[in-house]
Amino acid sequence: MSIQTPTIGSGQVTWDLVVVAFFIIWIVLGIGSSLFFWRIRNAALKRRVWPWYIWGTGGIFAAFTAYLMRTPWILAFVLPAVAVIAWLNVRATVFCDACGRTLWNQGFIARAKYCARCGAELYRAEGNNRET
Ligand SMILES: [Zn+2]
Repeated sequence: MSIQTPTIGSGQVTWDLVVVAFFIIWIVLGIGSSLFFWRIRNAALKRRVWPWYIWGTGGIFAAFTAYLMRTPWILAFVLPAVAVIAWLNVRATVFCDACGRTLWNQGFIARAKYCARCGAELYRAEGNNRET
């Protein structure tokens, strides 16, 4: 039995336990978080979980990349990229208190004032008033 081994750069990926475990964790996290953030209508709960989820998955991704590349110094490039993406993700996502939906803000400078789904006014609840 042989599994096709993808190559990243010059290094070859070996399908060891860490790689298999990472993909299982990644898939479970992906499905679980999608269900959680789309189905759950509790804006306050999602607002608390969201930054942990984003920074957590960013950390897992960075650690896995360093493991895959077999070079810890790659983190010097991966960590800033992950940090920027995570920060943008946390910043761009708001949760409507009226309908509880997850909303991705399109504009980073001009923030949406009303929920695109139910039309309720956003940024009134504590913790969501990041309007500057
Ligand atoms: Zn709404």
